[in-house]
Amino acid sequence: MTGCYFCEKKTEPTYKESDTMRKFLTIRGKIVSREKSRVCQWHQRKLSTEIKKARSLMLLPYVVYEE
Ligand SMILES: [Zn+2]
Repeated sequence: MTGCYFCEKKTEPTYKESDTMRKFLTIRGKIVSREKSRVCQWHQRKLSTEIKKARSLMLLPYVVYEE
């Protein structure tokens, strides 16, 4: 068992599910590291591609600045 969220759910990261994407972002809008998210290498790569796509479509913020 890898503990990978996407492997376990048998799903693929997609920019269309921005709520799911959001789980893998820190409060500052950065991608959570694999050590913390436990996402496998393959899905981490897909995830970052999908997050970039979501950002370009303004579905996710680039970086969230603290006030
Ligand atoms: Zn995986």
